Amino acid sequence: MGILRVENLVAGYGDTEILHGVDLDVAEGKVTTIIGPNGAGKSTLLKALMGYLIPRAGTVSFDGDEVTALPAHVRVSKGIAFVPQLDNVFPSLSVEENLKMGGYTLTRELLGRRIALQYERFPRLAERRRQRVHTMSGGERQMLALARALMTEPRLLLLDEPTAALSPRIAAEVFEKIREINTQGRTVLIVEQNAELSLRASTTGIVMADGCKAFEGPADKILTDEKIREAYLGTAKD
Ligand code: ADP
Repeated sequence: MGILRVENLVAGYGDTEILHGVDLDVAEGKVTTIIGPNGAGKSTLLKALMGYLIPRAGTVSFDGDEVTALPAHVRVSKGIAFVPQLDNVFPSLSVEENLKMGGYTLTRELLGRRIALQYERFPRLAERRRQRVHTMSGGERQMLALARALMTEPRLLLLDEPTAALSPRIAAEVFEKIREINTQGRTVLIVEQNAELSLRASTTGIVMADGCKAFEGPADKILTDEKIREAYLGTAKD
């Protein structure tokens, strides 16, 4: 049984239903990527997993406990963290102040240790600890957003398009970091437009279309099987 289980999840905004009954079973300790066209409901799914959107039907369970209707901060205390695509750092604050915000629930002593741990993980952030975030590059901000989410040492990390608007070289660096974070025992669930790069770092790939799960299988199969590639990545293998 996976660390995250979703059964028949129905969610939407106002009168509009976006997710029409999604099932997921995310394996512990692995990286899973969700791909799919714009508007498929990928971000909506992440919002429902984090508690920013309460579903109309269905259940979300984390580590065997149902969390379907729990607010986001309670899910954080249970070991889930979320890095949204936008507004994932405070631009007017310094690197260190951002990390402190990420660990605001921690004791003073633990806070200091966790900040030190992020500087070990992200040496470039250590060099810039007093720098205001609005003066930093997109890649550095994304690394900071990851570091901030890791302040609570989550068991499950939800990432919404971690490489959006980054150059290929920096996107590859972000994925290298995500792999490293995963090797340290963390389960990672990623929604990503950069399907190739993300699937190469993943065990499982999930394709969403029109608010439903259209396909699920081994990530390498999506990357290498001609028919599946054509159907879901829209390109032949190079
Ligand atoms: P994806 O992440 O796959 O691109 P989204 O989950 O962002 O898809 O969006 C799915 C649908 O939900 C889209 O039609 C989008 O316009 C709609 N939607 C997203 N956020 C909101 C919102 N806050 N209010 C109303 N509709 C929304």
